[in-house]
Amino acid sequence: MSRRKLIAGNWKMNGLREESARLVSALLAKGKIDADILLCPSATMLDEVGKMLQGSPLMLGGQDCHGAPSGAFTGDISAAQLKDVGCSHVIVGHSERRGGHGETDGLVAAKAQAALAAGLCPIVCVGENEAQRKSGDALAVVGRQLAGSLPPGAKGSQFVVAYEPVWAIGSGRTPTPGEVQEVHAYLRKILTDRIGEGAHSTRILYGGSVKPANAGELMTLPDVDGGLIGGASLDAEAFWAIALASLTVNA
Ligand code: PEP
Repeated sequence: MSRRKLIAGNWKMNGLREESARLVSALLAKGKIDADILLCPSATMLDEVGKMLQGSPLMLGGQDCHGAPSGAFTGDISAAQLKDVGCSHVIVGHSERRGGHGETDGLVAAKAQAALAAGLCPIVCVGENEAQRKSGDALAVVGRQLAGSLPPGAKGSQFVVAYEPVWAIGSGRTPTPGEVQEVHAYLRKILTDRIGEGAHSTRILYGGSVKPANAGELMTLPDVDGGLIGGASLDAEAFWAIALASLTVNA
């Protein structure tokens, strides 16, 4: 099945309004592309970036949301608030939140569920750390994370999965294309066991040190349906080059 590529930029805690506006303007000036492009700025910039994206095909996403619809959760942001400001997607379970904020699979599943309830598409992140990769446990780890982090009852097209090996994020290192395809095929098998044929419509992104130089070989693997891009998404030229490289033939 051919799945439309999704190239998502995770800006993390980077940028102030002025430079972010410059980045968005540069991306808007690039014109049309036959892929879905998603920008996930910090919460302080969602409104402004969202307004700039209005009327364009570029989409807006949050970097995290709370699992509850509203309430006394100081500093958190709800899925409905993201939706209200124009988001279509939200990243949940990024390793920087699993690691830095102690997020468990159960919490990630609750966040993904809250996203669905608010009409957002959750991007559910999974990924092994370096020790787990070295000990041959990568598949078991990501399989367990995926099974525990998916919202119950979700249809395959309602969510996105991102495979992000923790050791590849921001390190300049990536798994080999063969290793990436192996994990993505495994994740799709787990999805198929869980939701049946609908798993063929789920987009599974790869993330971790994707750059223009390696995007062609990573983004065009059979079970790779796009990328979650961190550092390189802060550079309009690099981000766009990655998006273009993802459009070569997908077997
Ligand atoms: C990320 O944090 O989602 C990511 C993929 O970062 P980078 O591209 O910088 O490795």
